[in-house]
Amino acid sequence: MGLPAACLFDLDGLLLDTEPLHSQAWLEATAGFGLTLAADQLLALRGRRRLDCAEQVRSWIVQADLAPPSPEALLAARQPISERLMRQVPAIPGAQRLVKRCLAQAIPAALVSSSSAAAVAHKSAPHGWISLLKTRVLGDDPDLAAGKPAPDPYLLAAQRLGVDPSSCWAFEDSLAGARSAHAAGCVVHVLLPADQHLAIGLQADLPDGCTLLQSLDAVKLSKAAGNGSQVG
Ligand SMILES: [Mg+2]
Repeated sequence: MGLPAACLFDLDGLLLDTEPLHSQAWLEATAGFGLTLAADQLLALRGRRRLDCAEQVRSWIVQADLAPPSPEALLAARQPISERLMRQVPAIPGAQRLVKRCLAQAIPAALVSSSSAAAVAHKSAPHGWISLLKTRVLGDDPDLAAGKPAPDPYLLAAQRLGVDPSSCWAFEDSLAGARSAHAAGCVVHVLLPADQHLAIGLQADLPDGCTLLQSLDAVKLSKAAGNGSQVG
């Protein structure tokens, strides 16, 4: 692998360590409707847009023979919990350095997140370096027809940067995100969770050809790049 034409960064779980907090927020919100989400259900919500998550959670509530709230009511219950938790979200180790290395080498970069613009602003507020990523495709983008795992977000990001998606490196942590970037034709790097059990489960479902990362510090933005192991 030579240098990429652009680097496309996911936010949740890739630049910011939000995923445990997202899971906690869903857990607390659904408890109010009588449902206790299992670990695999929480994992299935990762990387997806809020409304897509709410519709999925609502279907689980229906399956459990409980009175289902509307997706909007679910999101309204979750919102204050999420805002409280996200105020203190830490960065993923190596994330700030990777973004700055990319921009220092004049490699165009974009943020490709399922989160809404308001949510991105809220959780990235303590992390000024995220504002270096000027080009963005976010979950409530009016030009976005479908969210991850559809290829649309990555295709739109490449289009906005004026580059071929197949020349872009996408950085993801979730299955939905990796599938989205892969379907768009990007070179996909997947940051594996520290939890071995979760990492093995994720690897089993990833599309072929993803480069697996134990840490963002392992990314080599140089001509001699070619680190990590590959799936498939
Ligand atoms: Mg993610």
